[in-house]
Amino acid sequence: MESLGIYISVPFCKAKCTFCNFASGAFGLERMDGYVDGLVAEIAAARVRAAELKAELPGSVDTIYFGGGTPSLLEPKQLQSIFAALRREFEIAAGAEVTLECAPGQMSEATLEEAMAHGVNRVSFGVQSFVDEETAAVGRLHTAEACQAEIARVRAAGISEISLDLIAGLPRQTAQSWKRSLDAVVESGVPHASVYMLEVDEESRLGKELIAGGPRYQATAVPTDEAMTEFYARAIEQFGEAGLEQYEISNFAREGHASRHNLKYWAREPYLGLGVDAHSMLRKGDGAVRFANGDSLEDYAVGAGCEVTSVDPDEAFEEALFLGLRRNVGVRLGELEREFGSARVEDLDAPLRELVQGGLMCREGDTVRLSGRGRLISNEVFGELLRVAV
Ligand code: SF4
Repeated sequence: MESLGIYISVPFCKAKCTFCNFASGAFGLERMDGYVDGLVAEIAAARVRAAELKAELPGSVDTIYFGGGTPSLLEPKQLQSIFAALRREFEIAAGAEVTLECAPGQMSEATLEEAMAHGVNRVSFGVQSFVDEETAAVGRLHTAEACQAEIARVRAAGISEISLDLIAGLPRQTAQSWKRSLDAVVESGVPHASVYMLEVDEESRLGKELIAGGPRYQATAVPTDEAMTEFYARAIEQFGEAGLEQYEISNFAREGHASRHNLKYWAREPYLGLGVDAHSMLRKGDGAVRFANGDSLEDYAVGAGCEVTSVDPDEAFEEALFLGLRRNVGVRLGELEREFGSARVEDLDAPLRELVQGGLMCREGDTVRLSGRGRLISNEVFGELLRVAV
């Protein structure tokens, strides 16, 4: 049986960033103990829940990812409880990749030590920008200097697998200031980086303000879509020159340093999500089942808001195609054909030809992938494939 990836959501933050559309909040840390008790109970019940869904839950785990929120706010005792619960139910493979997301300046020495004692060997910093006016504009609590100090501290402790997140499209960002952030990532020598485009939706304060056309949260200083696209293209170019090759739409790594946990999502390998708004995908017979927890602390505490979706063969085909195309290695049509039959793959012929002719996709023999231009408008490209092929 395949190994499992486990995602643990810790939705607590010290302050809510204006651009953030995650199910996180500035919840009082006095609620963390109760939340950890909920996680421990959820881990203990995972096998029963999988059995009720008639899904396969692998016993061996080879990636664990603490995301959020700000999981670096967990106290040593809370980390201890979570890892003890995981070890009671699963075998954590030797060499497992164990990642902790961290807001710069928000991880105590004791938490770092405890995390490492339990096998945490990768830290992902939510830097977002190395330009202090930009981080201040969105309510982040750190400075560029603090970020550099944190990278040095984590390295000195013995963790070299470090990832830095940037966001293209923050208020006050310019081509020059974006270059300062890109330079800082390259100069830091980290083996992994992620670049996300600012998301504009009703789930964040800045997004709402942009939609409403108002001036709050420095909405009027948000760069144009064209500028954001340009920033993203610059990141691909500059990181590539520095050996941080793009391997997925938002992710860059030196050879051998791609996130093994995230690769599971794109390869449709099983993962179990625990905590608020955590999503899971487990095998079920020939297909799969997806399920998600409620997206508020209150719902999670009482087990409300859960959703379960069976993935039928058409949906599985769609997922294999679109998740696979997020990766720069692309998708092998022969493999799709073996898994889903030739009829579905033949239906892709015409839209693929059009997209290749339009310069949005590339085809080399059996392999299809997004072109550089296609990656900039990946959702539109997926829509075109979907419109004709499914
Ligand atoms: S961006 Fe990160 S630190 Fe900021 S509110 Fe969202 S989850 Fe918390």
